[in-house]
Amino acid sequence: MTTNRACVWVGARKVEVQERPIPAVGEGDVLVEVISTGICGSDCHNWESDKISKQLILGHESAGIIKEVGKGVTDRVIGQRVAIEPGFACMTCEFCLRGNPNICSNLKYCGLDPTDGTLCQYVACRASMTVPIPENISWEEAGAIQPLAIAVQLARRAALNSHHTLAIFGCGPLGLLILAVAKAYGVRKVVMFDIEQSRADFAVKYGAHAGIVPPQRGESQEPLAFAQEYATSLHKELGVGSGFDVTVEASGAEVCAQMAICLLKNGGTCIQAGLGKPLTSVPLFLLTARELNIKGTVRYTPGCYADAIDLLSRGLIDLKPLITSTYPLTKCVEAFEAQHARKDIKIVIMNQE
Ligand SMILES: [Zn+2]
Ligand SMILES: [Zn+2]
Repeated sequence: MTTNRACVWVGARKVEVQERPIPAVGEGDVLVEVISTGICGSDCHNWESDKISKQLILGHESAGIIKEVGKGVTDRVIGQRVAIEPGFACMTCEFCLRGNPNICSNLKYCGLDPTDGTLCQYVACRASMTVPIPENISWEEAGAIQPLAIAVQLARRAALNSHHTLAIFGCGPLGLLILAVAKAYGVRKVVMFDIEQSRADFAVKYGAHAGIVPPQRGESQEPLAFAQEYATSLHKELGVGSGFDVTVEASGAEVCAQMAICLLKNGGTCIQAGLGKPLTSVPLFLLTARELNIKGTVRYTPGCYADAIDLLSRGLIDLKPLITSTYPLTKCVEAFEAQHARKDIKIVIMNQE
C-alpha cells in the first residue's frame, strides 16, 4: 500500500491519473482496496462538462477487498470481499428516518461534486456502506453491482411480479439491467425499445421477448394521436391485451415518455427512470381517465445491494455479456473516450492495474 492512483476529472473532456494520499480510517470506517469500478453515464456526463469546483475523483460503482478496519467495527474483517454503496446519507433527516436514504436531504454521493469518488486504489467509508459479496461473483461483475441495485430498486417501485407484462424504453445499461431483474423475477413478457437496431437486437439476445425500433412521427402527425395509434397496433402485435402492466422510461426522450404512458393498460404503472429535459409534455389526462400511475425512481434503498448480490450469486442474472470492455485505471483516459463513443454496453475499470 504505497500509492493511491486516482482517475481525476480536471476539466471538460479531461481526466488524468493523479497520485492521492491513502485516506485515513476513522472510527466505524473500513479501508477498501478497490478492485473494479463500472463507468456510468453520469461519470461521462461529468467528464463532458466544464462545471467543476475542484479536481474530483470520479466513479461510484465499485467493489474491492477490506484492508483495514477502524475502531469499533465488529462486523467486517480484513480480506473480506465487498461492494461499496456510494451514498453518504445523513441517517438523521426525515427521509432517512423513514427508510429512504436514497432521497436524503443531505446526501453526499461519491463522484458527485464536491465528494470524491471511488475510481482510485483505496477508499475509506463507513463499514455499513460495504456489502459482503461471495467468491462466485467475478470482480468484473462486482463492478456493476451498483447499477444492478438501481434496477432492483426500480422493480420495487413498480412492484414487479411474474404475472406482469413490461415495456422498457432504452436499451442502454440501465434498460438491460431492468430486463435482467424482470427475467429473474419471472415477468411474463418484456419488450424493449431503442432507436438503434443493434441495441434492440442485443436486448433480444439478452432475454427480451422483442426488441423494437419505433417508427418516427411524421411532420403532419399530432404527437398524442401518433403515440396512441402506435400503442394500439403494438398491443395487438405483441399479444398484451389492452396494454402493459408496467412501462419504464429509461431513455429520457419526450416521445418515449408519451409512448410509455399510452402503452399502459388501465391502472398500469409507468416508472420514469431516464433524465430528460426538465419540462416534458405527457398526456396527464390519461392518468385520471384510466387511473394510471407515474412514479420516479432514484438510486437504491436499504437491501437493494444485498438483493442484487443474491441474484448474481444464485446465477439468476449474468452480467458478463453486458461488460464489453475492461481497462486498467492507468488507461482511464481511453476508457472515458470509449464510454463517450457509446460502442460498449458497460465498461469496467480495474483499479489496481
Ligand atoms: Zn452510476
Ligand atoms: Zn438524510
